[in-house]
Amino acid sequence: MLGFSLGQYLLQSYLSFRQYKVLCRTKVPKTLQAEIDQTTFDKSQAYGRAKSQFGFVSGLVSQAIDVAVISLDVYPKLWAITGAWLIRYFPTRFSGEIPHSLIFIFTYGLAQTILGLPFSYYNHFVLEEKFGFNKQTVQLWVTDILKGQALSLAFGVPIGSAFLAIINKTGEKFFFYLWLFALSVQMFIITVYPIFIVPIFNKLSPLEPGPLKEAVERLAQQLKFPLGELQVIDGSKRSAHSNAYFAGLPWKKKIVLYDTLIEKSEKEEVVAVLAHELGHWKMGHTSKQLIVAQFHIFTIFALFSVFINNRSLFNSFGFHYEQPTIIGFMLFNEILAPADSIISLAVNALTRKFEYEAGKAAPLQLLPSPQATSSQYVTG
Ligand SMILES: [Zn+2]
Repeated sequence: MLGFSLGQYLLQSYLSFRQYKVLCRTKVPKTLQAEIDQTTFDKSQAYGRAKSQFGFVSGLVSQAIDVAVISLDVYPKLWAITGAWLIRYFPTRFSGEIPHSLIFIFTYGLAQTILGLPFSYYNHFVLEEKFGFNKQTVQLWVTDILKGQALSLAFGVPIGSAFLAIINKTGEKFFFYLWLFALSVQMFIITVYPIFIVPIFNKLSPLEPGPLKEAVERLAQQLKFPLGELQVIDGSKRSAHSNAYFAGLPWKKKIVLYDTLIEKSEKEEVVAVLAHELGHWKMGHTSKQLIVAQFHIFTIFALFSVFINNRSLFNSFGFHYEQPTIIGFMLFNEILAPADSIISLAVNALTRKFEYEAGKAAPLQLLPSPQATSSQYVTG
């Protein structure tokens, strides 16, 4: 397992290195020469290189942490420590494997978050800052982290408890019920996320009437996109990067534009960005990705049902007496990594294909106005 993990890391580093060489080029590529000037290109390349260097260091550290977690038997040690906490600090009605697993997972997640803090800080306040992209204050960064932890507790406790209870109570065919549960959790999150979670971090307001709103509505109409709401999100309080996305239920969707996108782009450019996103919708990419994910999750759970009682798996990672389900699932995921890296290659290839498809689906709809269409036909 360690060998594979290192091998994978080396392969990824090699690929990043290849990309780094591309980021060292100083000449604007031919296809872009009409679009961007030398200064913009230089800045973009420098930003790419800085991000790549940062990725190299943070990747190295997280690789070292992964190796340490396995070779220093962090899982069994932390399992014992959290077990002792449970007895000492919690009332007896919280005893048992499920509460123990939840405390274990939360502590492990918290430790990972804390270890990641210096990198997150550097990323926002040094790297992004240097290139003028960072707009958030340290205070906002801290509140975001606290909110994130609170949310992971609020959702993690019920979802984690149900996950473990299903495995323990539904017998040998647990993987089927587990998959049904995972599917309903995903559906729940897809529905709840844009309505309840996004407003915890950002402010959404309706897009003001005007030429931009009309242009977006026209685009939605041309594509028969079921546009319910059209909103602006205050992305500018964190970063100068811009984006646009759509969310919501199949029959009533909302489009969300970043205020940074509106600020920095012409109306036609905003519509172009959005046209790409709606290209994804038109081609059914979100549903396709959801279906692929279901196959993936189902396979993982089905395979896990073969490994759940494998004594040697637990033994190899330092669990000689107990076989906690949550640990079994984590260890199983570790040994699944080789297969998973092949699957993620395939998923990446699919994502890439989808990006091109969305790009191709979009330009057809990129007609600024009906008048422009007719005049284009006349002149063209
Ligand atoms: Zn895309």
